[in-house]
Amino acid sequence: MTAEFLNGVQTFAPESRDALVDYAMENHKIMVAVNAEKILHATDESRALINRNLGYPDGIGAVWALQKKGHNTAVKIPGCELWLHLIQRYYKDKTFYLVGAKQEVIEATVTQLNIDFPEIHICNYRNGYLKTEAEEQALIADIKMHQPDVVFVAMGSPKQELLMERIQQEHAAVYQGLGGSFDVYTG
Ligand code: UDP
Repeated sequence: MTAEFLNGVQTFAPESRDALVDYAMENHKIMVAVNAEKILHATDESRALINRNLGYPDGIGAVWALQKKGHNTAVKIPGCELWLHLIQRYYKDKTFYLVGAKQEVIEATVTQLNIDFPEIHICNYRNGYLKTEAEEQALIADIKMHQPDVVFVAMGSPKQELLMERIQQEHAAVYQGLGGSFDVYTG
């Protein structure tokens, strides 16, 4: 998969959702949504965060910028659809761990996923309100114990990306930050 630096922000140019999730799965990447705002208003910090990970075009502005640079086959991949696509493609073989949102929302998300994907294996989940360092350490220990293939973190940016990086240091897997996607999914 090719990539381009847009205002210094490394943005991959996937030809399809499958190409992106397969690449992330093979390389144990943290997928980070890139849109025009994140490109135009990048700071040294936000740019470095994306460049350490797998930035993908989540908005049409990012796709236009990629196409202008010659990546004609790049497609837009909305993050709120990407995680469900990843589950659809991999739920029969891979295991999942969910972090984020309020307690009732994460519970409703797990219930709905079990309805939509009857054989899905969700190792464990917890809400996104980690109040102490000890709670974060307990979460990381639980993830290491369950060894999920995929970890979704829905807490808003950049909190979720920084947390995913800390967990990734302890457990290699595919990670995606989801912002408010659990709230959207359970509507
Ligand atoms: N959230 C969380 N922990 C926090 C703050 C927020 O789990 O400490 C959750 C919140 O419940 C909601 C989501 O993160 O589900 C907020 O997503 P938002 O829409 O702000 O993120 P965006 O999509 O804008 O990145």
